[in-house]
Amino acid sequence: MRTPTDAWIASRLGIPLEELTAEALEAYQLKRFRETVRYAAEHSPFYAERLGNTCPDSIQTPADIRRIDVTSELDVAGQENAFLCIAPGSVDRIFTVPTTGTHGDRKRICFTAADLAPSVEFYYHAFLTFIRPGDRLLVMMGGTAEGSVGDTIDRSLSPIGVITHVFGQVTDLETAWNAVLEFAPDVIVGIPYQIAALAAWSRTHGLPQGVRCVLLSADDVPDAIRSRISQLWGSEVYSHYGLTETGLAGGVDCCAHRGYHLRACDMYAEILDPDPDGFGELAVTPFGREAMPLIRYRTGDIARISTERCPCGGVLPRLETIRGRLSNSCTIGGKRVFLREIEEAVYGDNAVIDLECTADGDTLRLTVRTLPQEKTDTEALQEILRREVLPENTAVIIEEETALGFLPERSPKKRMTVRQEE
Ligand SMILES: [Zn+2]
Repeated sequence: MRTPTDAWIASRLGIPLEELTAEALEAYQLKRFRETVRYAAEHSPFYAERLGNTCPDSIQTPADIRRIDVTSELDVAGQENAFLCIAPGSVDRIFTVPTTGTHGDRKRICFTAADLAPSVEFYYHAFLTFIRPGDRLLVMMGGTAEGSVGDTIDRSLSPIGVITHVFGQVTDLETAWNAVLEFAPDVIVGIPYQIAALAAWSRTHGLPQGVRCVLLSADDVPDAIRSRISQLWGSEVYSHYGLTETGLAGGVDCCAHRGYHLRACDMYAEILDPDPDGFGELAVTPFGREAMPLIRYRTGDIARISTERCPCGGVLPRLETIRGRLSNSCTIGGKRVFLREIEEAVYGDNAVIDLECTADGDTLRLTVRTLPQEKTDTEALQEILRREVLPENTAVIIEEETALGFLPERSPKKRMTVRQEE
């Protein structure tokens, strides 16, 4: 079945679904890109300087877009006011998020209520892929504050009678698991490593009945986590890709699970300097932002965009694979290794609930956490890492620890510590 996101995009373009083609979308996106550039150059001090010599009407093709400078989080961190197009007092919502790099700065991303409204609309239509009227939906992330993920999802789906409970992030596994048993959700939305840990917990504390679907969000989703949840819980696992910078919502996969169908009527996505396989850094340009426009914003995520027809029938470009963050990769034995690849190996063991990874020169150090009384086969894990991930002769040191959950302040995004000269 074609993703409901397409019908929504067609309606936003003002055309029937059968006329929604990649070409029709591109024409629409170019028009909105020009409007975004014009508005930013006129209202934001940062873009007034940067785009002063760019005539918006000269942007007629994707190649014209590629001639415009990219924006990085280093441009934004600490200089948010230079991006603002409105008086600071007119900002309705500020999200403070850590930068993806290792320099420890934080960045503040500002929105008006109108900037965030399309996310509510997107969640509604994209969630129709797997949600049914009257479903019980447990949100194991975000918060209940206005504009948070939990609040946005709740506002999107309450009109169709979906009963949403926002539990927040998983910290103590027992408390979280009791919430699942008590609320008896049809659908759970959560953070990949946290829901993977809950699945490990449920192996010894009673598997849930009736969790029809799980939507994983806030980080890239290793296949090993996806298959652990579907195998143990019998749930169909979907993924959402989004960033604060995209207004939280970004894209959701369809029933074919072949990549994210993007919120393409509200943003332009492109891959910077793709390698021969099409992988490169994803840059996004959200359209129509009143408060803080971002143009060709570098996400730090290494990904690929596919223009092949999706098995669901969709013909728009999909964000096919997120390989992980560049900051979550290291060069070891001359080969670039992504945290995501290590996770694929480690989470293949259903006992694992957490992982810490440090690349120290040419040595990979892993701390693998399991529940008390569980054990991982570290020799087998070393063998898999050597065979499938790391170049020959790389040293791997694995330590085992037990844990019952996560620290409350833990970020939803996993990090790899890299101690080496890049
Ligand atoms: Zn599809």
